[in-house]
Amino acid sequence: MSSQLNFWPGEEGDGLRWSVSRDRRLTDCLRKYYLFHYGSRGGHNADAPPKVRELYVLKTLQSRHMWVGTVVHNMIELALGAFKRGEEVPVDSLVERGTRVMRAQYAESLQGVYRERPMRALGLWEHEYREDISREQWRERRDHMETCIRNFFKLPLLEEIRAAPTWRWLAVESLGQFEVDGAKIVVRHDFALRQEDDQVLMIDWKTGIPRPESEMLQLSVYGIFAQRKWGLGHDHLRGRAVYLGTGETGDFIVRQGDLERTTEAIRHSVRRMRELAADTDTPEIVNFPKTADKSQCSRCAFRRPCGRL
Ligand code: SF4
Repeated sequence: MSSQLNFWPGEEGDGLRWSVSRDRRLTDCLRKYYLFHYGSRGGHNADAPPKVRELYVLKTLQSRHMWVGTVVHNMIELALGAFKRGEEVPVDSLVERGTRVMRAQYAESLQGVYRERPMRALGLWEHEYREDISREQWRERRDHMETCIRNFFKLPLLEEIRAAPTWRWLAVESLGQFEVDGAKIVVRHDFALRQEDDQVLMIDWKTGIPRPESEMLQLSVYGIFAQRKWGLGHDHLRGRAVYLGTGETGDFIVRQGDLERTTEAIRHSVRRMRELAADTDTPEIVNFPKTADKSQCSRCAFRRPCGRL
């Protein structure tokens, strides 16, 4: 069993790539998991069989809530990049830029450009499924983006980040991976900082409501990566979820025991994914039943091909 870090993607073993979102799909609905990871395979080619292509297009869609999260993360990444270069970023200009991006992407999604270019154009499932979303609801999303960015600029934490020498900035929207039982565990740190007392602080920007259990899992997975890459130095890591909609923060202490429990949970999840795949690239759809919890379906991009409209 290898526990080594792997910074360069390779194709050893069965190439299984595990992430918190993949695990969540597995837990939410096995059919969704199948359609996302197997049914849509090869659909990035425009001349793929129509059913495969459709699943691929659908899996690239975002909800309007996820969309705001993506735009806010991108704007924060731009701001932090500028701060790192010693440049100032007026909050108004960032809000304006975020608004321009959202307007352009909204129009793109409404016109269905994503059907031709799913990798490059934004697609919203509200447009795909012609959901009845009022102008006020769309405007509320743009306003939420603005609130999140303005709250980001007001954070006392931002002063600490900007005051720290940039060599203490360990990660800014950085992709990384490590290995558990031959599977590649993929992480994307929003931000990580080595604080003055030498401890690592992992930060997760959130545009939604607090979900402490989910935050703790995410931070523990980051923590395994952080421990292997940067070392603990102490008996715990610090994690902070920053809820940008309100400016509130939630602090988490990630201890060695949490890292061990999370590693075990990843192992369990990886084992289950492998059992379901049954050593083949093309597992049988019948082994992936639809969830009995139909409340999941209204939040699922696959509801049409799945027959749960
Ligand atoms: S529509 Fe419902 S049953 Fe079908 S894949 Fe999505 S969550 Fe699963």
